[in-house]
Amino acid sequence: MKVSREAATGRPPPMPNAERRTARSQALNLADVTTRRSFPECPLTRAAMMRRRTLGLLMLVAINSPSAKSQPTAHPDRPMRTVLRAQRVLDGTGRTLPGATDIVVADGRIIAIRPATGPLPPEGIDLGRRTLLPGFIDTHVHLGWYLNHEERLHTEGDGDSPAMSAMAQASNAWVTLRAGFTTVQSIGEPENAALRDAINRRHLPGPRVLTSLGSLNERTRGGSPDSLRAAVRRFRQQGADVIKIFASKSIRDGGEATMTPDQLLAACGESTILGLRSVVHAHSAESAQRAARAGCTQVEHGVFADDATLALFAERGTYFDPQCGLVFRNYLDHKPWFEGIGNYNAAGFAAMERALPLAEAGIGRAARTKNVRLVFGTDAVAGAHGRNADELVCRVRQGGQEAMDAIVSATSRAAASLSLDREIGRVAVGYRADLIATDGDPSRDIEASQRVRFVMRDGVIYRNDPSSPSLPPTRGSR
Ligand SMILES: [Zn+2]
Repeated sequence: MKVSREAATGRPPPMPNAERRTARSQALNLADVTTRRSFPECPLTRAAMMRRRTLGLLMLVAINSPSAKSQPTAHPDRPMRTVLRAQRVLDGTGRTLPGATDIVVADGRIIAIRPATGPLPPEGIDLGRRTLLPGFIDTHVHLGWYLNHEERLHTEGDGDSPAMSAMAQASNAWVTLRAGFTTVQSIGEPENAALRDAINRRHLPGPRVLTSLGSLNERTRGGSPDSLRAAVRRFRQQGADVIKIFASKSIRDGGEATMTPDQLLAACGESTILGLRSVVHAHSAESAQRAARAGCTQVEHGVFADDATLALFAERGTYFDPQCGLVFRNYLDHKPWFEGIGNYNAAGFAAMERALPLAEAGIGRAARTKNVRLVFGTDAVAGAHGRNADELVCRVRQGGQEAMDAIVSATSRAAASLSLDREIGRVAVGYRADLIATDGDPSRDIEASQRVRFVMRDGVIYRNDPSSPSLPPTRGSR
């Protein structure tokens, strides 16, 4: 398979609140955050600590950067009132709105949706033949992972300064937003708190960030149920939006279960009591089933999830986020970036090669299993940020998921998985104005998801490319 390079408990919606986050980040004690050191899919090495003063420098640079300023209609400081006119609108729930439509945005929210009649008002933006849809949501990224000054995965002590790390992470956020991803759940890095808070304060352009700030595993604080519950409470105090739990080995180490049912019950149960969602890394069928039985919110990866596991997900309402190809391809096509670090070795790469066909087939099986809540998450690591839509293409072209279902999995269903389904993920009155437009209709031609040309988040326009006169005719356009 070759993926083209061309181209987020039922809790109510509390959106990130700048003041609350600021207080939380001030309380953050980085030294106490547990991080996984045995190299799972994702994080492994702990990134160098990012100093707050570095971020201050970074904010200044970002605000004055040519990329931020050159966006023709971007107003980084405040949301604007505007009318977006589109010939085609996908609402994020699987519906295509009939006829040309005006979306009226004010104070960061959609305040009206009406048929497009008459001249466009002066504050209007005509999106022409582009397709308007809700901003994409990626429920699993690692904004803290980046390629260092030697074009290698950044690891602690590799010579990158805190300033360089901060710049790289801000860059990851910006390219992700530019690619049309207006909300991400960033798993596992304590540094994400500063990034999240800077974006919330509009000091940096980036997607809305929810983060776990770290993770739990079977050995955390000794691994007793009481100590795992205490670790969950600690993350909450530090300002985590979600709890990340490792319940199996990495795919590169076979993926077997590492956490006992009692450990998972303790970690996920405490999360639920505190009103936090729990996201569980699990590859083997046994580990994934333990997570579902323990009432954990979402299972990640699940390369070896079988029919019985999918049936259990459906029965328990467990969100399932398997990956199709981007994360594997990013490793396998760019081995020099990773080789020799942790379990990125010949055996690890071979394990990922073997996992690829299983992963592709697993998407289709999950998509076809009734009542499985399949959500979109890329596990984007160093080198993959901004290419998140490649995973959408893989899910449809290699995995066999229906294109519209893939879009729903990355909009309204992803929003539900983040307990934000009354705020984001839909083009509907009252929802936040997280809106993107693509060249072509991704519900008919999923590659259009890689051609994002307009990005608005919370009513602020971050990207609005000029129309291309050489644009080929859109398949199925009206
Ligand atoms: Zn991950």
